[in-house]
Amino acid sequence: MMSGLKIIYNSKSSLLILIILAVVGCTRETDKVEEPKYTETKHIVKRGENFETILDKLSVADCKVAIISVLKNSGFPFRKCLPGDTLFLEKKNGEFLKLTYRQNLHNTYYVTTDSATFVVAMKYPYVDTSLTFIKGDIKSTLYESMLAVGETSNLVIRYADVFAWEVDFFTETQEGDSFFIYIEKTFCDSVFVDYGAIIFARYCGEAGDFYGVYYCDPEGREDYYNLEGKSLRKSLLKSPLRFSYISSYFSKRRFHPILKVWRPHHGLDYVAPIGTPVSSIGGGKVVYKGWKGSYGNLVEIRHKNNFRSRYGHLKRFAKGLYVGKRIKAGDLVGYLGSTGLSTGPHLHFELHKNGVPINPLRVKIPRAPSVKKKYMNAFKSHRDSLLHTIQVMSSDGGEELPET
Ligand SMILES: [Zn+2]
Repeated sequence: MMSGLKIIYNSKSSLLILIILAVVGCTRETDKVEEPKYTETKHIVKRGENFETILDKLSVADCKVAIISVLKNSGFPFRKCLPGDTLFLEKKNGEFLKLTYRQNLHNTYYVTTDSATFVVAMKYPYVDTSLTFIKGDIKSTLYESMLAVGETSNLVIRYADVFAWEVDFFTETQEGDSFFIYIEKTFCDSVFVDYGAIIFARYCGEAGDFYGVYYCDPEGREDYYNLEGKSLRKSLLKSPLRFSYISSYFSKRRFHPILKVWRPHHGLDYVAPIGTPVSSIGGGKVVYKGWKGSYGNLVEIRHKNNFRSRYGHLKRFAKGLYVGKRIKAGDLVGYLGSTGLSTGPHLHFELHKNGVPINPLRVKIPRAPSVKKKYMNAFKSHRDSLLHTIQVMSSDGGEELPET
């Protein structure tokens, strides 16, 4: 989704009506009822369905061949008939009148008929993408405050992701803090469809004043950086599981629930349902995959800066995982289980530094790489023009921005 930066662009409106006449595929009785009865059926495409099976479900058997044939002639992308697309079938006195196929919110196809022919029309909506400046103050939570200024939960997630390593929006937001976002928004026939890339983000409050500048260097390396060009990301993720809780912490001495002896627990236990995807906390190389005593099914990854991570008690391994494979942060390594010496479904997660197990919650994890030295000047001028644009766009114009 992160393409190059464009300050404002509008894709022109295009409304193309393609009319194709097809041979009549079904006969219709002449209307003899005084009050015609109209019905509309909505169908959302589900996984495993194709266009033909959907027509069968909508019971248009007598017109099926004609509809498919006229769509085929119009170049209708049958293969792109995907879950989530919507069909509306209109009938008059129980007979086919109109079929509307709405594909991915963008393109709409209509099949209509009079008594003699079938016709296809396609409508490409007016798509408009522009950069918008959003700002607001925290009243209660970040979530509620963003919804209060007319945005959606999708934006809250994207914004929180930019600052995931800087601010804990669950605990560190305070009333009176403020947020600023410069982002692409896409509209389809004037209706908001989706957000594009966040170009710039700022969070200003009790916890500090944080900036996130999106920058893509000439080699295509993209990231969010602070004003000094340092990456906002750390080289390792916070957790190998997205939704879970920790049931057992790192400790030098823990009473083992199965062995009934005191021994160190050199990791964290994350509790989540069996089969929950477990992902690598960082990029690196798989150095172990297999059974290892009390760990059960274990995966071990070697990362940069002499870090290693271990994922134990796995139910099974990710497909295509092998020793020596290079993986990226967030890549699937396996599924949570209860193999080996385990009291119940959980992930045993360990982090080692220079061969010694360390407490993952305490470790200082280095940042992901900064903007390269040779691109630092380009980054700075990009940053300054962004800050300038935002200052101009900021409605009151009095927003205090840092001296750079
Ligand atoms: Zn454990």
